[in-house]
Amino acid sequence: MTKIKVKNPLVDLDGDEMTRVIWSMVKEHLIFPYIDVDLKYFDLGVIHRDQTDDKVTLDAAKAIEQYGVGVKCATITPDDDRINEYKLKKAWPSPNGQIRSYLDGTVFRKPIIVKNIKPAVRSWKKPIVVGRHAYGDIYKAQELVIPTPGRAELVFTTDSEGAHGETKVVVHEFKGPGVLMGMHNTDKSIRSFAKACIRYAISEKIDLWFGAKDTISKKYDTRFKNIFASEIVEAMKDMQKAGVSYKYFLIDDAVAQVMKHEGGILWAMKNYDGDVFSDMIAAGFGSLGMMTSVLVSPTGKFEFEAAHGTVKRHYYQYKEGKETSTNPVASIFAWTGALKKRGELDDTKDVVQFAGKLEKAVLDCIEEGLITKDLMSLVDNPPKKHLNTAEFISAVSKKLAKEMK
Ligand code: NAP
Ligand code: MG
Repeated sequence: MTKIKVKNPLVDLDGDEMTRVIWSMVKEHLIFPYIDVDLKYFDLGVIHRDQTDDKVTLDAAKAIEQYGVGVKCATITPDDDRINEYKLKKAWPSPNGQIRSYLDGTVFRKPIIVKNIKPAVRSWKKPIVVGRHAYGDIYKAQELVIPTPGRAELVFTTDSEGAHGETKVVVHEFKGPGVLMGMHNTDKSIRSFAKACIRYAISEKIDLWFGAKDTISKKYDTRFKNIFASEIVEAMKDMQKAGVSYKYFLIDDAVAQVMKHEGGILWAMKNYDGDVFSDMIAAGFGSLGMMTSVLVSPTGKFEFEAAHGTVKRHYYQYKEGKETSTNPVASIFAWTGALKKRGELDDTKDVVQFAGKLEKAVLDCIEEGLITKDLMSLVDNPPKKHLNTAEFISAVSKKLAKEMK
């Protein structure tokens, strides 16, 4: 059988632990038998990051910028325990964080929907994608514990020549102990975020929601609202062509509306809202093993991955030679997402079709009750026995072989 040729290279970022095991199984059994692709391979496993003083992470980010599409396995973000475990030189920063800041990207999380797993919210029929702004606010704030009475002020000193000195406002006259925080964001980052959300909504042909609290935060959140609005005006023609609408809500209203909505939307959120509600949406749709994630840069570069980590607990069992039942679905969908996007950008329909067939093979397996352990408590009419990691991939491989005939 002749393999399907992928026109341009795809950047392959390998990772750690159980997901690294799954990564090579997915490539060997589900991708390479059918696809002829020039993979630009970067080993982001923590040992290789350590050996290269983390240069490999930056090289990988540059390659995604050069080629446009990457697919990434989950990686360890080292803490003190990991430094000891892997004898690392230091606690290298999160690869995801680094790639995100290099590409100035926004992360979109999307649940994978199957017929036999009912979302916790009855009205949800289609995916609710969460786009989280990943810069600033409380994540880059300065905080003070106020020990005594005194005055707290917000002071801005300009760098611009000719402009005059200082702007000062009183935050609070403390009569006793308390707490204080100063946070910020930048127009550049908010604008990139808005652009990335609009680009994603157009590419997926889904409506875009954005929620903030501009009635209370008349400068801070209003800035977000206005920048979003101006980017929407800019993109209106493209949005109309794709049939995509935009709606601004107060954040509390958005939360109420989403509980009655059928889904099929992109919900753009400020950093903290995204942190909180992306976990609510993930739990509402079922399992971490069924959640994909894509990083989109404002210039249209894409990096696909599973939303979960390296599944350390399962890997320790695997290393002891014990059976594991780790769900590879999100990792497989990282590959199909990347191949689909590659095919769209290259205008190669057969590549896009292959990705669709692989996704169908996965969904068919789950809907027939061929599932990993994490889904046992979630599916309607669970089977007597779950499959182990390798058995599940083999079941998908058999289904895919039929699809490809
Ligand atoms: P995790 O990998 O997300 O797994 C936490 C737990 O969730 C697992 O122990 C498992 O529960 C369940 N789970 C997650 N994915 C699953 C899957 N595909 N199939 C079945 N069950 C799944 O988090 P972690 O084990 O706490 O973190 C391990 C490492 O991942 C950390 O070093 C962290 O730095 C890294 N991490 C990386 C990324 C990334 O690269 N994107 C994201 C998050 C974390 P049970 O044990 O109950 O079965
Ligand atoms: Mg969170």
